[in-house]
Amino acid sequence: MFERELSELTPDQGWVLQVLAQHRTALLSTLVDTLERARTGFALETLEGLRQRGLAESLDGIWRLTWQGVGVANWREQKVWIDMLPVGMELPEPRDGENGSDLGPDCDSFRAALFAPGRCWCGRGRAEHRAVPGNDGRGAESKVKGRSLTDG
Ligand SMILES: [Zn+2]
Repeated sequence: MFERELSELTPDQGWVLQVLAQHRTALLSTLVDTLERARTGFALETLEGLRQRGLAESLDGIWRLTWQGVGVANWREQKVWIDMLPVGMELPEPRDGENGSDLGPDCDSFRAALFAPGRCWCGRGRAEHRAVPGNDGRGAESKVKGRSLTDG
């Protein structure tokens, strides 16, 4: 089924589909910018620059972002939202060990990853923040009370 759809796409449609998939969600302006730049032939030069910074890597001609690169890309998307937040709300930020896509360390504070609706920077959904082991070593789960799940 996917193959039939894919075979009916023009090369341009396939390219835009791929770019959008990598962005997951993206403003039209972001996509237009990405696509126009990719056509000008500076893609390889830019990718090499990203590789030197440890943000991208390639194997057999297939490029992908590193863990750090994913974090940077996610943060870039997160910042797009800064002007759309409710008054008084600060932009939720990642902690050490979090890139917004891979599962991070234990987390007891939901910090919305706005580029991935419903998820925290730690990679978990909001409901997965209720039972986090405490430092007393036992029975922490049963002691969790109705604490706020947002970080304000
Ligand atoms: Zn979290």
